[in-house]
Amino acid sequence: MNFYVMTLFPELITQIVSSSIIGRAIKSGVISVTPVNIRDYTTEKHGKVDDYPYGGGAGMLMQAQPVYDCWKSVVERIGYTPRTIYLTPQAGVFGQKMAREFAQEKDLVLLCGHYEGIDERVLQKIVTDYVSIGDYVLTGGELPAAVLIDAISRMVPGTLSNEDSGEEESFSGSLLEYPQYTRPEEWMGEKVPDVLLSGHHANVEKWRHQKALERTLERRPELLDNAGLSDADKEILRKLGKNTDEA
Ligand code: SAM
Repeated sequence: MNFYVMTLFPELITQIVSSSIIGRAIKSGVISVTPVNIRDYTTEKHGKVDDYPYGGGAGMLMQAQPVYDCWKSVVERIGYTPRTIYLTPQAGVFGQKMAREFAQEKDLVLLCGHYEGIDERVLQKIVTDYVSIGDYVLTGGELPAAVLIDAISRMVPGTLSNEDSGEEESFSGSLLEYPQYTRPEEWMGEKVPDVLLSGHHANVEKWRHQKALERTLERRPELLDNAGLSDADKEILRKLGKNTDEA
């Protein structure tokens, strides 16, 4: 899968994606991340890419021309018109379901705004999806783009060394993940739950599922409403004091 990141700060993207699991996936060719510098496409002789907003107001806006020409060059390079995501706080919030959906694409273009954002006319022409990473305002779209690249890449086969680990974690089935432990068996007087040392696979699974229910109830109870709970799950939650009639 190939990500093309349109940005005024390509070095930020390069730095973020070059380490750890995503860096390894790039090295092994499972994904590619190509930052494209919007400034390289300005026709303004001093390299300017922004200007004052019509109607007044604080800050500067990125102009349509360099953004459009940059996008056109990416499209020509790819050979077809891929989905183009504008990272913006003015959108629905990114989640695991979106990550899974975007991971089906062969190529994705991510457009990062800066300053007060981008001239609306070019957004209307090129953007297919508007995505926010949360209800707060950042200085630019580079961190949000990196968040998408990370979460989407984990859904691309070959990025994670054990592909199962992407299926069993938080949100994969609408529940948060169960607590996990590694060596030593005892640390600061706290012991690993016996069941995890028992070697009894079915009991381990049962314990993990119960803990996932408990954790979700404690930290994100609203997720239970769409979790497709079984009667046994509802009984567990009832014992924990949760009325699941509406779940
Ligand atoms: N004036 C804009 C508004 O009120 O919606 C905010 C512009 S923000 C300072 C600059 C850029 O950062 C945006 O164009 C967008 O690309 C990015 N950005 C900021 N917060 C974001 C968020 N929560 N999710 C995704 N992108 C964000």
